[in-house]
Amino acid sequence: MTLPPNVHDAEPIPAAAREAIDALMQSGDLFRYTAAQDAPVSLLEAEFAALLGSKYALAVSSCSAALFLSLKALDLPRDARVLIPAFTFAAVPSAIVHADCIPVLCEVGDNYRVDMDDFAAKLNGVQAVIISHMRGHTSDMDAIMGLFDAQGIPVVEDAAHSLGTTWHGRNIGTIGKIGCFSFQSYKMINAGEGGILVTDDADLVARAVIMSGAYEHNWKKHKDPTGADDPDLAEAFARWQNQLPLYNLRMSNLSAAVIRPQIPELGRRVQDGLANHDYVAARLNSSPYIEVPEPLTPERRAPDSIQFNLVGLDEAEIRTFAAAAETRGVKVQVFGLSPDNARAFWNWKFLPEQVELPQTRNMLMHACDVRLPVRLTRPELDIIADILLASVGEVIAPIKAFGT
Ligand SMILES: *Cc1c(COP(=O)(O)O)cnc(C)c1O
Repeated sequence: MTLPPNVHDAEPIPAAAREAIDALMQSGDLFRYTAAQDAPVSLLEAEFAALLGSKYALAVSSCSAALFLSLKALDLPRDARVLIPAFTFAAVPSAIVHADCIPVLCEVGDNYRVDMDDFAAKLNGVQAVIISHMRGHTSDMDAIMGLFDAQGIPVVEDAAHSLGTTWHGRNIGTIGKIGCFSFQSYKMINAGEGGILVTDDADLVARAVIMSGAYEHNWKKHKDPTGADDPDLAEAFARWQNQLPLYNLRMSNLSAAVIRPQIPELGRRVQDGLANHDYVAARLNSSPYIEVPEPLTPERRAPDSIQFNLVGLDEAEIRTFAAAAETRGVKVQVFGLSPDNARAFWNWKFLPEQVELPQTRNMLMHACDVRLPVRLTRPELDIIADILLASVGEVIAPIKAFGT
């Protein structure tokens, strides 16, 4: 019998990283601000800004740190209300609480995207928005930017898991005022830990750079990524010198050395990830009990996992399905059923305001998550699809048999 594939390991880090790491080991130059210029973190920032078509990038210790710094850079007052989708990772409301703001949760639909009606209804009193493109599922950015730009409310994109996803051909993370990405191991580029924010706004990036820990005049090592003179940036740094707290959320050169050789791999990873996802999606959609939501028309996805809803199954049947799949070797996470799940809003007991969101809760009770690393081969994808379909069959067959 063919064994189910290992879906936990990431791709190997490209060999080119070794040379850069060896050089760092030799020199001991791990701190981003020691070298006069061309530190790996600075080079990463320039390359990442160019990759996304953004003016500025700031590499930090995690996407959570990037989200926190985004809110601090926006200079929101204490207790500012920040609207987020209720389907996200606990790190997102946590970053808001960390920034002394209040998360306001809005409903998410069965397609894992912001429910625009509920979103519009909750706008009153909101001072900023973080759109979490959860598992890379992109909410309707045209509608969102239409609503918020008109009111002058800043939109931060949590693109932690969306690197390589585009909307009308434009990179996700570059549509709002600030975009934040993660280099944690389960994301498209893996450094174990790490994050980066991008923006076109000199004032915002200058504030974020200083607060990330560019003490004294270390901000002078942050230049326009193209190397051009940037009077806006210089003015912004001068304006904020000594005015802001230093949170020390910097990235180490070691992380940048691991990340940089993966950037040229991104195009292939996106292409393979999408092809793999769509292949498995088509197979799963052949079952009347499984529904893989369609992307929105302007969206081109970059998935490394698949999400699907179990249709017409109750909680006991969903548990049986997940157990059957696990026995066969495929781990299915049902967001709302796995204990203490960090993506289930009712487990965020630290929120200053607890809310109930029936639509999102219902979605979380039916939505399944299966990892689909981009390195999987067609035969391996078939094994996963076969197991998921057989596991549904195991739940459904006895019900049908009972009726005959
Ligand atoms: C992974 C993830 C985060 C957190 O990223 P870290 O780099 O681990 O802080 C935030 N939001 C989403 C949607 C994520 O997938």
